[in-house]
Formats: sequence, C-alpha cells, structure tokens
Amino acid sequence: LTERLQNAISKLRRKGKVSEADVREVMREIRLALLEADVNFQVVKDFVKTVRERAIGAEVLESLTPAQQIVKIVNDELTKVMGQEAVELAQAPKIPTIVMMVGLQGAGKTTTLGKLALKLKNEQKARPLLIAGDIYRPAAIDQLKIIGKNIDVPVFSLGTDISPVEIVRQGLAFAQEKKNDYVLIDTAGRLQVDEKLMNELAEIKQLAQPNEILLTVDAMTGQNAVDVAKGFNEQLDVTGIVLTKLDGDTRGGAALSIRAVTGKPIKFIGQGEKMTDLDVFYPDRMASRILGMGDMLTLIEKAQQDFDQKKADEMQEKMRENTFDFNDFIDQMTQVQKMGPMEDVIKMIPGMANNPALKNLKVDPKDIEHLKAIVFSMTEKERTEPDVLNPSRRRRIAAGSGRPVQEVNRMIKQFNQMKKMMSKFSKGNFSGMEGMLGN
Ligand code: GDP
Ligand code: MG
Repeated sequence: LTERLQNAISKLRRKGKVSEADVREVMREIRLALLEADVNFQVVKDFVKTVRERAIGAEVLESLTPAQQIVKIVNDELTKVMGQEAVELAQAPKIPTIVMMVGLQGAGKTTTLGKLALKLKNEQKARPLLIAGDIYRPAAIDQLKIIGKNIDVPVFSLGTDISPVEIVRQGLAFAQEKKNDYVLIDTAGRLQVDEKLMNELAEIKQLAQPNEILLTVDAMTGQNAVDVAKGFNEQLDVTGIVLTKLDGDTRGGAALSIRAVTGKPIKFIGQGEKMTDLDVFYPDRMASRILGMGDMLTLIEKAQQDFDQKKADEMQEKMRENTFDFNDFIDQMTQVQKMGPMEDVIKMIPGMANNPALKNLKVDPKDIEHLKAIVFSMTEKERTEPDVLNPSRRRRIAAGSGRPVQEVNRMIKQFNQMKKMMSKFSKGNFSGMEGMLGN
C-alpha cells in the first residue's frame, strides 16, 4: 500500500504545477493502491471521491506546492476514515472496569489481554485480574497463566470442566473481594464465526455486563478481518477493536476499512509478540504510516505553528533563490529548537522515523549551541557568502569560537548539504533527505 501511494505521490512531486488531469491520474493510482491493499470497495469509493473533490479545489491547483497539499488532503482523509481521534478504553464509574476480549482463534486475544494488563499496570498502577475463560484448549489456560506470571498479574482459572459463564461469574466475585480495578476476560475463539461460539459469548456478555467488549482481529488477514469484525459486531455489539500483527508484512488495508464498515473504533494495535508491543491507535499516525512518510505532516504543521510566518516566508523565498546563508542557518536552528528536542524533530522527516540508526539518537542541545558559537565567530561577509571560507578563515573561526577546526569544517559541510537539500525540498522533492544527517 505504502509503496504504491508513495510512487503516485512522488510522480506528482516531480511536477511543478498540477492540473486537474494530474489529480485524476494520482487518484486512480490511490484507488488501485487501496483496492490492492484489500481495503473495502465502498470505503475506497467514498474515500477517493472526497479526496478528489478537495484536491480539485482551486486553492490546491494554484498553490506553489500542490503535491504537498494533495498529500495533506490524502492524509487528512485517511485519518478521518480511521476515526480521527484516538479513543480511550472505557472506564466503569466504579471499579472494576470489565473488559471482555473476543475474536477468532489465533487472532491474538490472550496475548493482547496480557499486554493490556501490563499497560494498565504500568501506566495507571492498576491491579488487574485476568480470567481464563477459554476452556476448550487446556493449553489456553496454561498460556494465560504463563503470561500472568511474566507480567505479575493474577489469573483466575477453574480449569476446563466448568462452563465459561460460571468461571466468569466466580471470577467477578473474586475480583470484587480482592478489589481489582480491572477485570480482563479471556474467551475462546473458533476458526470461523459460528453460532455456538456467539451464543456462549452473548451469555458471558449478559452476565458480566462488560464496560468494554474488545474484538481482536488479525491485520494480516486483510478483508477477512473486516468480515470477521462485521460478524462479531452484529452479534455482540462490540465497543472497540484491537488490530494485531501490524508489525508483520501486512498490507494495512484492514485498519482503513474496519472503522468505516463496523462504525467501531480501533482502540489498540498489536505490533509484536512481546508484552510491551501494544499501542494506542492514533488514526493520524496510522495515516502517515500508510503514506510512508514518518510524521512529515506533523512536522509541517508544527513548523507552520511554531515558525514565525513572516520568517518562514522569507526562508522559503531564500530556499527557492538558493541564497540561504549562515544567518538564516542560525535562525533556522533557533526555530527548530523551539519545535522541541532535535531528535524528535529529525524523526519526523520522511524515511527517518523507522531508521534503525536513529533509534537511540540523542542530540545534545549543547551541540546546537556550539554550532551557533561557530557562526557567531564569522564576519558578516563570511556568513552571507560562505564560499569565502578558506582554511585560514576557518582556523580563525575555530579559535574565536573555541571549537576544533574539524568541527568548523564539518559544520560548513553540513551547511552546504542542508542548503542543497533545502532547494530540493522547496521544489517539493523529499527524496534524499536522509543525506542531511550524513557527515
Ligand atoms: P488467541 O487464540 O486469539 O488467544 O491468540 P493468541 O494470543 O494465542 O496469539 C496467537 C499468536 O499470535 C501467538 O503466537 C502470539 O504470539 C501471536 N501474536 C499476537 N499478537 C501479535 C502481534 O501483535 N504481533 C505478532 N507478530 N504476533 C502476535
Ligand atoms: Mg487465546
């Protein structure tokens, strides 16, 4: 999905101005990309229609950066389709909050419950109780017990000879007595949605009156995951969805369709087998991820908010004319510093978010101060005409700023790279941004 969308978008970026025909062309590609990724047909149809209407609006076609505008529209609409905002786990007015987990066999229910218990424990200092309600496979109870032991959360189990409904009844009483603030009920799954399973789940629901019925679906099963979600939702009226196995090579289509098809929010995503691999689902982040561009739009928006608009306009003009100099460099650094820790800002650049080399990147604010010190030791001429920076000038600057001459050289090199990058960037070409960090 990501690759196809990126291709469509980069094609657009190579053009300066964009015509209505270009928009139609890119929309065709987006439509194909979505269908190929198993996104529900109706969802695709509605999506493409909305984006096309917005994109053909005059303000996009006439803007200087139409490709970026279209990316932003696509991103906005993807976010909207997925529900716009993150939706929190429901809370009971008084403890315990009861969460019932349902889904097909192998979807990841048991694992996700463990992850959720750990998350609640870590983030809210909660005292959850897990109830082993899957009695059809003895291994399922052991699995839950092992998980409980790992994360140090109690597991209520009565073996396999007692009905799940009865187990839940006794489990709830136990939680009441122990004053657990969350009760997380694990249930059995089948290979397909079937009536017997649904009846049993409905019975548990009736008894437990859960505050939350979370449906776990496996993102790797694509359109099937959406059908399953629809089936479960019709029978049980679930309150939220957990999409698991998003760490694998999934096409991501399920994330896009599920909300639209079921009307229920995706609340969490599972991104690995470890107990810590559960994240709150943020529609905007998922949209950027589908677009394969890190949090570029967050960056652009952040920049728009934090940059003094007039300065930003000047800067853009300079980038276009390629007259960006060291004074601008300092301005830029100061502006960027205002946006937050450098490592966060860098990670918002396309291609950077998942760059393993940056995983533990830390940028010391002192480094930026050093860069500034170097620039402050330059004469006005040196700042505005960096080409005059010959070795003797560099040595003088090094001495003046108290930084080693190698650092001065490195900074000038980076400055030149940045300048090159910016002139590309201002033309809407994001490729090669990675080079900005090379030294
Ligand atoms: P259940 O039958 O629905 O209870 O599913 P399980 O919790 O037993 O999970 C089935 C398999 O999927 C296990 O091997 C889990 O480790 C794996 N699994 C669950 N969630 C994820 C996930 O988010 N990512 C990956 N890669 N594997 C997962
Ligand atoms: Mg299970």
